[in-house]
Amino acid sequence: MPDSATNHFDVLIIGAGLSGIGAAYHLQTACPKKSYAILEGRNAMGGTWDLFRYPGVRSDSDMYTLGYRFRPWRDAKAIADGPSILQYIRETAAEYGIDRKIRYRQRAKTASWSSVDARWTVEVAAFDGSTQLFTCSFLYMCSGYYSYSEGYMPGWPGMDRFTGKIVHPQKWPEDLDYKNKRVIVIGSGATSVTLVPAMAETAGHVYMLQRSPSYILSLPSEDMVANFLRGKIPARLAYTIVRWKNVLISWFLFHRSRTNPEKMKQWMMELAQNALGQNYDVARHFSPRYNPWDQRLCLIPDGDLFRSIRAGKVSMVTDEIDTFIENGIRLRSGQELAADIIVTATGLKLQLLGGMNVCVDGAPFQLSRAMTYKGMMYSDVPNLATSFGYTNASWTLKSDLTAEYVCRLLNYMDAHDYTTCTPRQRDASMPKAPAVDLTSGYIQRALKELPKQGSQRPWRLHQNYALDLLEFRFARVDDGVIEFSRGKNAASHSEAEVAARA
Ligand SMILES: Cc1cc2nc3c(=O)[nH]c(=O)nc-3n(C[C@H](O)[C@H](O)[C@H](O)COP(=O)(O)OP(=O)(O)OC[C@H]3O[C@@H](n4cnc5c(N)ncnc54)[C@H](O)[C@@H]3O)c2cc1C
Repeated sequence: MPDSATNHFDVLIIGAGLSGIGAAYHLQTACPKKSYAILEGRNAMGGTWDLFRYPGVRSDSDMYTLGYRFRPWRDAKAIADGPSILQYIRETAAEYGIDRKIRYRQRAKTASWSSVDARWTVEVAAFDGSTQLFTCSFLYMCSGYYSYSEGYMPGWPGMDRFTGKIVHPQKWPEDLDYKNKRVIVIGSGATSVTLVPAMAETAGHVYMLQRSPSYILSLPSEDMVANFLRGKIPARLAYTIVRWKNVLISWFLFHRSRTNPEKMKQWMMELAQNALGQNYDVARHFSPRYNPWDQRLCLIPDGDLFRSIRAGKVSMVTDEIDTFIENGIRLRSGQELAADIIVTATGLKLQLLGGMNVCVDGAPFQLSRAMTYKGMMYSDVPNLATSFGYTNASWTLKSDLTAEYVCRLLNYMDAHDYTTCTPRQRDASMPKAPAVDLTSGYIQRALKELPKQGSQRPWRLHQNYALDLLEFRFARVDDGVIEFSRGKNAASHSEAEVAARA
């Protein structure tokens, strides 16, 4: 039971997106006696899947792995549209009563840990402008990885001269009319390859303008195995089989990309060439400067982008912007592209820990100086976990495992009467590298702010679901790296809480 006078909870979850709802399910299932609340800064749940409203918004990984382990994805579409994913999150929250635990328009601003009290104090900006204080024994950050306030927008010369509309996909105007209009979409990532064919359905013409290409792989939007098994065996069993099949396929693609990049590159170029016709300049528009999986692979369902190029509705342009002009963009090559609307699909601004300022016993915590423990906790930061998904597979595979592990940790602490758990990195000579090893722009722009990973487990991230599953589910909690203790005042708090609960 929460202590209503002081707003104290055993666990505070920050964020009601895919991770926060999943975390709550695991918590109330595996630790039913723990009180918890979810603080959500916006006025809706769903996070990413509620925020992004651009045409065609969809997953770029399959829903059998992006869905929760505990709740089968039943829709026929494996690559699902944003509204269906949002509905799945909402239904999950409603089915398990998690929706009643969410407190909306409560943005966590600061979190301060006291070792003496063994608790966090979280300062929250409420919807009415007031500041509220919450305390909790364990802080569980499910706040995603990017800033919700704005996307990344590089400046270009002459932007103010352009007389049409400039739109960022993170702030899509509900009433944007692009029927029969000329559109330029700037960018080569997942958002561009989603937006371009979707807009091309009604726009006059769409240019996809990229400085350099990305790897693009077409996959069927429906999963043949899942469709074959549907109705023949129990839904849960079918889900598990398809989930593992997809885990293994994506691991195989990733592994081949890292061990034999030239072969993978050649294979993907051939697929693109076959889809676009032998005369198409695949080398110019679809042959990236980097190796496969040095950045996230862009998946397209049923070759939709390739089809709209072949239909003449979309033109790929690989060039650099010289300047915006009154009616479009002039490129370095001298070519001019005319447009009524320019969409800047230029990416996200990375933001970790929900943009909160964090202090441990009065000392400001600097994420960039910390090492990440199992990709979910930080060296020298007690009782705090973060949900951070895989970079080479679906986010939820890791966020589910993280939630399971947090529950194991909490139950272990209860069983041994500990109040505090802190990962300690004692080997100062261990080599360090950024915790995310992608060369994508939004990662490179934020390298200075990212935590580090080490060279060995539990400090090294393997980005491998099967290995993580074994470790998170079966390895010892008390692994000699995580330090357990009791706060001096924690006992009296606990007793008070026990009394309050009775
Ligand atoms: C367009 C798009 C498509 C994507 N497609 C895929 C995909 O196909 N596969 C995949 O694996 N990943 C994909 N991702 C990554 C995606 O973000 C994750 O899959 C997943 O949705 C993350 O869920 P989350 O709950 O951890 O974070 P989010 O969805 O970002 O939710 C975080 C929540 O926390 C809240 N919050 C943040 N800070 C605070 C604070 N200080 N106080 C209170 N509340 C706070 C936010 O308001 C938000 O509701 C995609 C991302 C984008 C942007």
